[in-house]
Amino acid sequence: MGIRTKLIIFLLALLTAISILTSVLFIRNELAAISAGSQRKNLQILLAMTEVCKEIHGSPGKSYAYRYFKTFLKTPEIVRVSCEKAGSPPFMADEYYTPSPEPRSRYFKTFSPPGTGTWETRVENGVEILKASFKTRRPAFDIVTRVDFSTRLIQQEIESSLRHSSANFFIILSLSFAIGCIGILLITRAIADPIQAMAEAARRIGSGRLDQMIPVTGKDEMGALASELNDMARKLKESEEIRRDFVSSITHDLRSPVTGIELCADIILNLCGKREHERIPEQVVSINEHSQRLNRFIDSMLEVSRIESGKVTLDIKQLNLEDLADRAVRAFRTYASQKGLKLELIVGGDIPDTRGDPDRLYQVLANIVGNAVKFTSSGSVSVFVEAAPGGQRVRVCDTGPGINASELKNIFSKYYRISSGKREYPSARTGTGLGLFIAKFIIELHGGTITAESEEGKGSVFSVFLPARSPDL
Ligand code: ADP
Repeated sequence: MGIRTKLIIFLLALLTAISILTSVLFIRNELAAISAGSQRKNLQILLAMTEVCKEIHGSPGKSYAYRYFKTFLKTPEIVRVSCEKAGSPPFMADEYYTPSPEPRSRYFKTFSPPGTGTWETRVENGVEILKASFKTRRPAFDIVTRVDFSTRLIQQEIESSLRHSSANFFIILSLSFAIGCIGILLITRAIADPIQAMAEAARRIGSGRLDQMIPVTGKDEMGALASELNDMARKLKESEEIRRDFVSSITHDLRSPVTGIELCADIILNLCGKREHERIPEQVVSINEHSQRLNRFIDSMLEVSRIESGKVTLDIKQLNLEDLADRAVRAFRTYASQKGLKLELIVGGDIPDTRGDPDRLYQVLANIVGNAVKFTSSGSVSVFVEAAPGGQRVRVCDTGPGINASELKNIFSKYYRISSGKREYPSARTGTGLGLFIAKFIIELHGGTITAESEEGKGSVFSVFLPARSPDL
């Protein structure tokens, strides 16, 4: 079942429940109000009738009181009225209506009797009668007024009033229900349409169509979700491009040493056939170089998989950052002089020992010094070791090609190489694009930071900051 159908069913059920509840409450309250009104009216009739009885008893010949008495009897619910001296037969009585048997009414049970009279329902000949009486105290004798009401007619009156007021109520309720239904359709459309569009877009993105963008229709949560999904698709596309580029270049990079090894082996076989054994060592050296390159690739890949599975741990020891930087500089001195580059180490003051994993930190320094020498074709590479607030820093400055701002933010990403189809960057062809990713991970594991600043055409500066560690770490 789709989200729209679920929403419609839920909101319709809610609307129906609210309508039923409102109707029940309305009918209950209305019934209580009408019943109370009817009770009040009957009480007023009884009291007015008492006045008539007193008047007729005082002046029996007065015809206007009798007419008034007769007028009362026109009230349809009144079945019988009588006025009597207490304990004597009525001196005035009339009966107007003989009600047919009816089921007992439930509305009259709550009637309260007037202060000095009685007020009770009684069944006479199978017919329910509401019998009201009121005693007027006189010095010589009491006058008792009796009025019998037909409960069936009172009930009919109540029901007719209830029907009348309910009719209006139900017209308004039906109109509200219809408006509510239209509202539900509009709301579900407004909610479900963007969700369905997003689900469809996510499905397309999932099926590999990463150029699919979801239209951002507003600034609400849905709009924010759509932008998030678009961002996610954009990032996926970028990393997919990097991955594709990496796979194609790594295949190429892996193939060239393997082809080299194969070629050298062929040459060795040929040399053996021709018995020119003295030329064999030269080929073995070449095989060794190709194998080392292959090993470097495989090591980097294994390191990344260790990082990703959280298996990299540090072997913390006492170390001196100046010594490590010096080792890294010496490792690339020959390479730098072959390229005609000046490679220098500048130490700013006394660098105290610190703690860290020396092998891992050497790996980082060798990577950034190696990159600086590899990518710089003329000029110099300067390595500074210096104290910094809260720790120590190594800065590697080169006069290489530099890196533009849009590429600079990606260089610590996995597999990222500037040669990746953007600019001819011949030296990067031999790399995996993993060195800086691994370096960043190692430095951050030490609690430090690694940053790069660069200006295209002028050179780059890579800085590694290591916080001072307490000796017991
Ligand atoms: P690799 O292991 O292939 O050398 P890195 O992760 O070390 O890759 O470097 C990523 C990319 O950053 C390199 O391919 C290169 O394009 C760029 N880069 C790194 N250092 C420098 C530098 N000193 N000057 C210019 N570009 C650099």
